Amino acid sequence: MTLPDYMELAAPGVRGLQPYQPGKPLAELERDYGIRDAVKLASNENPLGPGALAVAAAREVLTGLSRYPESSGYLLAGRLAGIHAVSPAAITLGNGSNDVLDMIARVFLSPGVEAVYSQHAFAVYPIVVQATGATARVAPAADGSTGPAYGHDLAAMAALIGPETRLVFIANPNNPTGTWLNASELRAFVDNLPAHVMVVIDEAYFEYVEEADYPDSSQWLAECPNLIVTRTFSKAYGLAGLRVGYAVSHPQVADLLNRVRHPFNVNTVGQAAALAALDDSRHLEETLHVNRAGMAQLVSGFGRLGLSCVESVGNFVAVDVGRPAAAVYEGLLQNGVIVRPVANYDMPNHLRVTIGLPAENERLLAAMEKVLS
Ligand SMILES: *Cc1c(COP(=O)(O)O)cnc(C)c1O
Repeated sequence: MTLPDYMELAAPGVRGLQPYQPGKPLAELERDYGIRDAVKLASNENPLGPGALAVAAAREVLTGLSRYPESSGYLLAGRLAGIHAVSPAAITLGNGSNDVLDMIARVFLSPGVEAVYSQHAFAVYPIVVQATGATARVAPAADGSTGPAYGHDLAAMAALIGPETRLVFIANPNNPTGTWLNASELRAFVDNLPAHVMVVIDEAYFEYVEEADYPDSSQWLAECPNLIVTRTFSKAYGLAGLRVGYAVSHPQVADLLNRVRHPFNVNTVGQAAALAALDDSRHLEETLHVNRAGMAQLVSGFGRLGLSCVESVGNFVAVDVGRPAAAVYEGLLQNGVIVRPVANYDMPNHLRVTIGLPAENERLLAAMEKVLS
């Protein structure tokens, strides 16, 4: 039997997709390059690892793994509802917040309608939008005159909104730029949206941001029913391997999301560990302390090498290496350091570096100096 052309059989939106490119895993680098003691600063993971309370809670539920998880995530959703001062019916749990972003796209998008996001915005938005067959409208980023260069330009985004727009994606702060929007500008944008447009505010790095006028946009939900806020346990809480994220929204929106949510999408271990992580304020404080110090170390180290960075409030920083970054990325790999190329984000001369432990940051800076010379 001759094989059919499977590309022809695929849904139109899927044909043009490129798979998401994750950071190179440590084990892969060590295997391919015959290196030991490699350092990974490529996926915005917590360099301290998970907190002790989360690990203990995860261990405790292992003997119950023959049972399906609690599909509603009763305890975790209840706890998150308390934190955000909403009803548990406003929480939708996801297998990472990527899962939630995908559910949102599947609920609101289809061929013929549009979604708006910014140039340099998180790479999952184009994937989930295109997969539905909807049309992406990409707003040029700020050029430095209207807001920090590389950041979302809310006026440019508003200009793309029309009768067919169903979703707007905003990452606050954005990955890979680390740029952020303040409470008044973001709230004004949300308030001015037409009623048929939902806005997703992705707060994956919420816990890291210490600026006084950075908003917890989940507090706007009572007045903004067209708002969906997403959060994750993958970054500051150090649980990327367990895949737990969630959305906070109007309960009617959560009801729609739950219609496409896979049953049992958040596993038993993830639910238990995430719940315990919320109680581990010491781990979170230490995480922020390490991040603050590491950000200062990297930014001043890059400065000494004559390199400039995009000012970031996350746990990562995009550094301009002043030349096409692919060769620098490769050189760093050969020196046992994994960072993230961001050419696929329209930033061919930048590398995104996750803030690591002091020795890891030093290792990156030394390797960078060697590779650039
Ligand atoms: C890392 C990240 C996420 C979260 O991914 P998970 O699926 O929760 O691990 C979401 N949005 C942005 C902008 C991110 O950088």
